[in-house]
Amino acid sequence: MDALSNSLAAADMAHTLHPNTNLRAHEENGPLVIARGEGIRVWDDRGKEYIEGLAGLWSVGAGFSQKRLAEAAYAQMLKLPYYHTFTSKANEPSIRLAETLAEITPEPLTRAFFTSSGSEANDTIVKMVWYRNNALGRPAKKTFLARNKAYHGITVASGSLTGLPVNHRDFDLPAIPVRHLTCPHFYRFGAAGEDEAAFTRRLLAELEAVIAEEGADTIAAFIGEPLMAAGGVMPPPAGYWEGVERICRANDILLVADEVICGFGRLGTPFGCQKYGFTPDIMTLSKQITSSYMPLAAVMISDHVYGPIADNSARVGVFGHGFTASGHPVATAVALENLAIMREEDWTGNAARLEAPFQAGLRAFADHPLVGEARGDGLIGALELVADKATKRPFETPGAMGRLASAIGHDEGLIFRAIGDQLALCPPMIVTDDDVAEIMTRMGRTLERLTDAAKADGLI
Ligand code: PMP
Repeated sequence: MDALSNSLAAADMAHTLHPNTNLRAHEENGPLVIARGEGIRVWDDRGKEYIEGLAGLWSVGAGFSQKRLAEAAYAQMLKLPYYHTFTSKANEPSIRLAETLAEITPEPLTRAFFTSSGSEANDTIVKMVWYRNNALGRPAKKTFLARNKAYHGITVASGSLTGLPVNHRDFDLPAIPVRHLTCPHFYRFGAAGEDEAAFTRRLLAELEAVIAEEGADTIAAFIGEPLMAAGGVMPPPAGYWEGVERICRANDILLVADEVICGFGRLGTPFGCQKYGFTPDIMTLSKQITSSYMPLAAVMISDHVYGPIADNSARVGVFGHGFTASGHPVATAVALENLAIMREEDWTGNAARLEAPFQAGLRAFADHPLVGEARGDGLIGALELVADKATKRPFETPGAMGRLASAIGHDEGLIFRAIGDQLALCPPMIVTDDDVAEIMTRMGRTLERLTDAAKADGLI
């Protein structure tokens, strides 16, 4: 095993360019090769066991050994491994999936457009919204509103909507008209002396001011994750989404819910927008749609979004947008089976039931001297590590403490995501009470060792 592991690591270091990785550090340190998975656990190629506390990339709802998904893929591959959906061609699994998504998503959403990734889905939304406004004879209405610290993907348009400096810097992004608003995270961006209600009012006043300044006739859509996830797991302040929806409606601005992480029960409601009480015109879905067993995403749109797009396609000949893998029969067959399992096992109900112990477990760490805030909703949460609890002062070298915590976590058999110095958890949807307790035990041991290790490394 060691010889094999060493040769795998050497080949990876020589031939792979890893996403979201310090490439020079990787050349020295090499990969963590994950070899197999079962339930909520994975094992590396040296046989060490880990609880996958982030469900891969916030996505493996079904856990790592759901045979029904493998069987659905196999059966579909034998029957029809590939067909496209261009020029009115169709296949049964993609039709059934569109129908199912129209049924389970909120009322106004009736149609699905399929892509392979969340980034492609959000790029598709940008193009659909532009196409629609051109069709409606208002070519100036093109700007998107997004938020600082949002994550909407990394392609040219979706990466522009993302509000994280590391995804913009040196990539020449943003490259589309977008305005990023204040991140709605009260702990970090609430002003001194401001309570949460006043923070919400300030965010909504900013939204109205930006619309007034740019002109509503230039602003096409507002896009947001119901709970901002990859930027640091930040639930919105009370009243925020209600206000955003009201202002968008008043200004004829489409509201896009990016539910790539919050969708399919993660917050204890079928979709994240339902947790926070708003209704989008457009929705992005991916990740948990197949539990990431196959790459797939969907853009859900309502009839009033669809109408002008369909009219324009008739005028110009076709809706000139689509991917080779749009509506891929194997990916959509796996999604259908995954959604059937989700219903049978009631993942949404499980998340609603486990929200209390999961969130209480996290908040119990709020007393730790390095934890500034413990936060989350449903089955997603984070611990924000700070240099000074009283002033919320971050560490001098952002990310170093997060990396150290992550390494100790690995040693303790818990994989979580260090987003800078924020430690994110988002376990598979099949977790039990005992699993939640074990995740908190391992996180607790990680935090117990962190202070001494940080002192030894000169971080505190
Ligand atoms: N939107 C959100 C909210 C996401 O979290 C992500 C991925 N983390 C994306 C879009 C992009 O998805 P993908 O990585 O499949 O392109």
